[in-house]
Amino acid sequence: MAKIVVVRDPKYAPVGFLVCKVVNGNWYPRIDDTKETILVDKDWDFPTLASVFGWEHPHAWNYQFGCPECMRTVADIIEEAYDYLEEHCETIIENDKYFPE
Ligand SMILES: [Zn+2]
Repeated sequence: MAKIVVVRDPKYAPVGFLVCKVVNGNWYPRIDDTKETILVDKDWDFPTLASVFGWEHPHAWNYQFGCPECMRTVADIIEEAYDYLEEHCETIIENDKYFPE
């Protein structure tokens, strides 16, 4: 199982996040090396990335209508995911979604 971390890096990802592979406890944002760094800078990809790090909107929602239960729009839910990712920057987890082994 790959160890990964999500980080902000204004130079490489001014509006998004970098997912880095953690090797021997270290990671280096290297945008030119997709084997160790993946850029996630599309708003719509934030919920998927956040869910890998443990985030979950409490209700069933979808990208077309948002959440009918709490009336949150898709933009609101993306913001939730974004905030969660910011709070979990540099938290190391094990997951194979971004770097399958
Ligand atoms: Zn909801």
